[in-house]
Amino acid sequence: MRIDEILKKKRTLSFEVFPPKKNEADRSKIFATIDELKTLSPDFISVTYGAGGSNARNAAEIAGYIKRAGVEPLAHITGGPSSPEDIDRVAGELEALGVENVLALRGDRPADYDAEYCKYFAHATDLMDYLRRGHDFTLGAACYPEGHTECETLYADLVSMKKKQDSGASFFITQLFYDNSYYYRLVSEARRAGVTVPIIPGIMPLVNPKNIARIKSMCGSTIPLDFRNMIEIYSSTPSVMEEIGLNCAVYQIIDLVAKGAPGVHIYTMNNARTAIEIYSRLKKVFGGLFGA
Ligand code: FAD
Repeated sequence: MRIDEILKKKRTLSFEVFPPKKNEADRSKIFATIDELKTLSPDFISVTYGAGGSNARNAAEIAGYIKRAGVEPLAHITGGPSSPEDIDRVAGELEALGVENVLALRGDRPADYDAEYCKYFAHATDLMDYLRRGHDFTLGAACYPEGHTECETLYADLVSMKKKQDSGASFFITQLFYDNSYYYRLVSEARRAGVTVPIIPGIMPLVNPKNIARIKSMCGSTIPLDFRNMIEIYSSTPSVMEEIGLNCAVYQIIDLVAKGAPGVHIYTMNNARTAIEIYSRLKKVFGGLFGA
């Protein structure tokens, strides 16, 4: 089913997985993870895609597995340095597997990129315009509550969001964030800029303190002071850290749902246990799936 249609009917719950390197043990592990996530009846599961299409086959195989498991896949595609032929090949594979939903992205550029890099798909909008001409996917796009790292002002990023909507994005999924006020600001400013489609918040439970530095350098997300203090005190006790990470994620989600977010997308990092824990706590608050 198409995600824009699902969003018209209910608040969505979704997860994100990434394709592991291609060896048998890792493949079985990701399939087992998907089987576990499926028991939570998600509305869709998204599959990431290497910048430049490095793991395209692998990603398509996983999207196909999700589809066969009876869950809607959302296949990410990055344009980046790909040629139109590369994109047609990936899109064709996904269509053959029955995948209907694509999250269209540019992908990160290497620090030393030149004018030739991203020759065809300089932005996600170029990829969306191209996909719309030759393929029939429901398109989603990325957005950034604290602004994209390349953008000088939040306003410029909002203009980009509107361009993505004009290029066919029928929903957005946000970069991860730990302070909900950035999400609320983004939604309110995006509405003023003419963005009308649903903006789904992306939540990544921070259960491993080793990821903190990586999160800051990769996506610039702010970690609130009280959360950082807890991490500093308890980082050497993994079981306590896990509880803190889970509770903070659940707290964020309850607040988001209470204030009307159209869904919640959980970056699971292929860890079904984290998703299951969060789900069971949310169920105590909301009964069924977010009151759907
Ligand atoms: P763009 O939309 O091109 O935005 C990049 C910059 O250009 C922004 O500053 C924006 O404001 C500006 N811009 C956008 N459109 C225009 C335009 N038309 N004209 C001028 N300027 C413009 N990366 C992966 O490699 N694989 C993944 O699977 C993946 N999944 C992701 C999922 C989500 C939900 C998110 C939030 C990010 C994901 N990323 C992924 C990371 C993403 O590729 C990077 O953040 C990348 O740097 C930007 O991608 P984008 O699609 O937002 O690019």
